[in-house]
This record gives sequence, structure tokens and C-alpha cells, in this order.
Amino acid sequence: MKTEILEIDESSLALSKRIIESGGVVAMPTETVYGLGANAFDSAAVERIFEIKGRPNDNPLIVHVHKDYDISTLVEDVPEYAKLLAKAFLPGPLTMVYKSKGTVSKAVSCGLDTLAIRVPSHEGAQRFLKFVNLPIAAPSANVSKHVSPTTAEHVYSDLNGKIELILDGGKSEGGIESTVLDCTGDIPVILRSGLITREMIAQVVGECGEYVYKDGMRAISPGMKYKHYSPNCRTVLFNFDELDKAVKLYREETSRGVKVYLLCDDKTVQEAKVENVLNLGKDENEIASNLYLKLREGEKVADLIIAVAPEKQDGVMVGVMNRLSKACR
Ligand code: AMP
Ligand code: MG
Repeated sequence: MKTEILEIDESSLALSKRIIESGGVVAMPTETVYGLGANAFDSAAVERIFEIKGRPNDNPLIVHVHKDYDISTLVEDVPEYAKLLAKAFLPGPLTMVYKSKGTVSKAVSCGLDTLAIRVPSHEGAQRFLKFVNLPIAAPSANVSKHVSPTTAEHVYSDLNGKIELILDGGKSEGGIESTVLDCTGDIPVILRSGLITREMIAQVVGECGEYVYKDGMRAISPGMKYKHYSPNCRTVLFNFDELDKAVKLYREETSRGVKVYLLCDDKTVQEAKVENVLNLGKDENEIASNLYLKLREGEKVADLIIAVAPEKQDGVMVGVMNRLSKACR
């Protein structure tokens, strides 16, 4: 199968609609990462997503809809706090989990009685969703467990030959996956951290919990239990106060002929004074935006990526650290 990368216009949208309506999959840009989408009502199409990615079949997908889509046809029991959060943050990088009405294919939620809904803010994503006017089930458009894609080229390098069409909407500026929020209980609970932080949610509705998955527990959000986001080379992660150890390892490995790159924020780059760096940038949004980009850049040139955690560990950095620690496991 030939894989085309097309800018978003009337003709590529018409093609994407034909593919989706005939049970195929289309890669689409969003403001977080690129998604691999299929008609959520079509079980065979949804199952193709799992096949193409090599995704474990107990890890459910998020359903993407345009901003005027009536989600009461898909889910029930939308609590008051969820309405407030939707008003504050949607369209945007926040996925909300509700009790499912069971109208979409069972394959989307992998047997759970809940459904995750997202309304992306990316203009190209909105155009695509509006054009097809269907709920689109989509995980990230990468091979399962590899680094998530933030450009059309990243999608191409993982899925070339396996899908027909990649809609190119430029770089995904957010850079890490959406915050996943359980909205089935009395208060919202974060299942996966992202750019909409616990602090931001608590500011709107007063309270926000965070679910911490530990090995062996039953996962409410099955995605938590998997190795993820990993580049195709060795990786090691150090704490922000272990830069001396990181630099020592960098020098030892380099002297043995290993191609080593240091992945860290700009402040640490300045202190480390080593030659090969993958600079994540300065502020927290820039760091999130560059994380997958730099991991993918790194795996092309490095045998070993030595990552050093940023000093700031709250806000958006909770999501960044979650990805970084899984990438370096
Ligand atoms: P991905 O888009 O590849 O990052 O994967 C979607 C994420 O959303 C995974 O971490 C899933 O476990 C999570 N997710 C999707 N649907 C649900 C749901 N109904 N309940 C809890 N988590 C979900
Ligand atoms: Mg993913």
C-alpha cells in the first residue's frame, strides 16, 4: 500500500472521508500528537487500528469528535463538574471518560463500560472531524510502544506501507498526549497527566484526584501499565541533582566508542558542557513540545541517550516525567 502525506484541503478531506466511510484508517494531526483514526461505529475498522499498531487489545481508544458533536448520543451521566471543565478547556488537550451508552463499537473501549471522549483544538483535526461528521476512535499514530509522533514524517516513518493517508497539519505543538480524566465519580480523577494539569482542573472545580498505577494493580486506564514512548536505542534517566553522574557516564561510554547524547532542558545543557546534546528547551511547554521530537531525533544518531530530569516536577512536568520515565525503562 502506498502511503500519501497530504496537506489538509477540500480534496484530501474528501479522500479521508471516502477512506473512513469504507472502513479504512487515516492519520490525523492534533494539538497533542498525531492520531490514527477510524469510524468508531465500525468494529472491523477499529480492529484494524490495533492490528496496524500492534497495540495490546485491552488498551482502549479515545473517541474524537468535532466541537458541535452531540456527545449525549455516545455517553450518559455527564456530571456538572465535567460540564464546567468542558466549558473551560474544550476544544483542547483534555480527554474525559464517561459511562458509555454502548452506541460505538465495543472494540473501542476493550470491554470497559466507559468511553473516553476528546474534542481536539487543532484546526486541521476540527476540519477533518467536521467533514466526516463521525466519532473517530484514535490512539497515537505510532507503532505500539515506540515514541508518539508529533509530525507527519514521524507517522510516515512508523506506518509507511500500512496506511493510505496521513493528513499533514504541521508539528503538534502540545507534544505530549492529552490529559485523561475520569469523570464517572464524585470528583474528577486524572488517569494520565498532560498539558491540562491537576492544578488547572482544581482551579475550575475545586478538587481533582490523581490515580497512581502500581504494578500488579487492576488498571482503570489500561494504557498505564505498558512500556511506552521508547526510542530504538538504549536510554538511562537521571534525577536533576545527578548531573555529575550523568556526565561521568557520558564520558565513560563516549571513550569506549559509544555514540552518546545527553537529553535535558536548556539549563542543564549549559551546565553539562558536553558535545552531543538533545536540548529540550527552556520553559515547561517548550519541553513538552520537544520531548518526542528530540527522542526521535536522538534514536537516529545515538547508541545511548542519557536523560536528565528537569528540576521542576509539578504542573506540565508531571506529564513530561511520566513519559520520560516510561521511555527510559
Ligand atoms: P493513546 O491515544 O495511544 O495515548 O491511548 C489512549 C489512552 O487513553 C490510553 O492510556 C488508554 O488506556 C486511555 N483510555 C482510553 N479509553 C479509556 C477509558 N474508557 N477509560 C480509561 N482510560 C481510557
Ligand atoms: Mg499511544
